[in-house]
Amino acid sequence: MKPYDAKESQECKICGFIISHNKQGWFTSHLKNEHGLTLESYLIAHFYEPEDLNCSYELCDGTVGLNRGKPKKYCSTSCSSKGEPLVCVLCGTKFDTSTRPHRSTKTCSDSCASKLRSMKAAAWHK
Ligand SMILES: [Zn+2]
Ligand SMILES: [Zn+2]
Ligand SMILES: [Zn+2]
Repeated sequence: MKPYDAKESQECKICGFIISHNKQGWFTSHLKNEHGLTLESYLIAHFYEPEDLNCSYELCDGTVGLNRGKPKKYCSTSCSSKGEPLVCVLCGTKFDTSTRPHRSTKTCSDSCASKLRSMKAAAWHK
C-alpha cells in the first residue's frame, strides 16, 4: 500500500482530473466542488484498497479511519489498547477480553474451559 501524499501529483479517480499536488488543497476543493466529497471520504472510497483499511488488531475486522490522509492503525482506541491477543492453552485459538471478559482466562471458550477443568481433574486423580 502506498499512503496518500499531498505533495505528489493527484489524479481524481472519479473523473480523471489531474493536478500536480495538493499542497494548497486544490485537489481537496476539486473533490468538494465537483463530487461533493471530503478528501477523506474520497480516499476511503477510491484511493485505498479495502485491505489497506483493515484494523491492525488481529481479531478485529473493523475498518480504520484516516489521519491526514493516511490510514490509522486501529479502528478504535479499544483496539489500540488491547495489545497481543491471548492464546487458548487448550486449542491454540486466539481470543481476547471482548469474548472472554477476564484477562486471566486461559481458554477461548466455555467448552475449552470445561475440557481443561476435566483434564486437570483427571491428572489429579492419577
Ligand atoms: Zn474529479
Ligand atoms: Zn479494530
Ligand atoms: Zn480453545
